[in-house]
Amino acid sequence: MFDVATLRKDFPILNRTVNGKPLVYFDNAATSQTPQIVIDAIVDYYSMYNANIHRGVHTLSQEATDAYELARKKVQQHFNAKHLYEVIMTAGTTHSINIVATGFSSLLNQGDEIIVSALEHHSNIVPWQMLCERTGAILKVIPMNEEGELVMNAYDELLSERTKLVFVNHISNALGTINPIEYIIEKAHAVGAAILIDGAQSCPHIKPDVQDLDVDFYVASAHKLCGPTGVGVLYGKEEWLNKLPPYQGGGEMIDQVTFEKTTYAGLPHKFEAGTPNICGGIAFGVALDYMNSIGFDAIAAYERELLDYGTQQLSAIEGLKIYGTSEQKTSVISFNIDAIHPYDIGTIVDKLGIAVRTGHHCAQPIMDFYKIPGTVRASFAFYNTKEEIDLLVAAVQKAKMMLS
Ligand SMILES: *Cc1c(COP(=O)(O)O)cnc(C)c1O
Repeated sequence: MFDVATLRKDFPILNRTVNGKPLVYFDNAATSQTPQIVIDAIVDYYSMYNANIHRGVHTLSQEATDAYELARKKVQQHFNAKHLYEVIMTAGTTHSINIVATGFSSLLNQGDEIIVSALEHHSNIVPWQMLCERTGAILKVIPMNEEGELVMNAYDELLSERTKLVFVNHISNALGTINPIEYIIEKAHAVGAAILIDGAQSCPHIKPDVQDLDVDFYVASAHKLCGPTGVGVLYGKEEWLNKLPPYQGGGEMIDQVTFEKTTYAGLPHKFEAGTPNICGGIAFGVALDYMNSIGFDAIAAYERELLDYGTQQLSAIEGLKIYGTSEQKTSVISFNIDAIHPYDIGTIVDKLGIAVRTGHHCAQPIMDFYKIPGTVRASFAFYNTKEEIDLLVAAVQKAKMMLS
């Protein structure tokens, strides 16, 4: 049974006040809040078994190694990866993308093509531009429409035997649009291209099955999934991870080292140089358990209710325009009122205890498409309520009165 009042008790931060008002946290697309069980896992690690992993025979090191490898197992199960060694623990989505983008330098030639989408986060644009500079490959962009959806027949036309890679986010962080990744993956494979899906924004709402999707790479960050910052995952199909060279050199990623030649460790350690975020990895596993205990179907259904309610209530404000109106979207509402600068609205609602995001949301090309400097973005999680949405609507109305 999904009971938001009970779930809210798991999040100590939801008890605090901001500027004398109860906190209303609507910046979940930037980072999610942390349940007590995850906080406890972090405290427990540093209180009881803080040690380096994989290379110690002593008890603490073994306990830490076991806990870290158990977390990897949980990630494998969550994403339904075929093999444990296809799960690379990283510092987060950006790190995961850079491992792939850098690795492809040795696999691309002048004139090869990479396709990205108009709905990408900067972290999913810049690494590919850098890759193109290094290799002479050409970047192509799937355009978007007024509703904030990708135009699939334009994608079909971009694809050819020159396409070597396709990169699309599963869900747009700026607008909340859920992209038709099943179709995008199938079409990429039809021309023999590899495909990477950025799941940073989808994983808090949807449980992906990487085998079912038949995706080559899938990446996510723990901190958007009730876990800590600085840890995430790169899932890659075994054949692709074997083709890619290591990203960083260092400890843990080697097999034999001499000054003449070093041979690399096997998967997953080839991509895990140096001491990882051990505590973060363990806490990531606990966060996945927590989310799964609530259930992603229940989370998605409840967030849909919040989205519909929020859309209806906010739309009723005169002069308010919502950007991103696809039927296929998650609980993100990006909006502006008349010509009021989003930053001014954000500042006033913060005075009333409400955290929203303002700006371009690391997705400037989307803002350019709409010819706006940015938006106010309210993004809801399963621990938010309709009462909080009412507070937002009242705060936005007040801001509008003060600013117009
Ligand atoms: C948050 C986000 C990222 C970046 O994640 P980091 O944890 O900052 O590396 C990338 N893509 C999308 C769609 C995001 O929402």
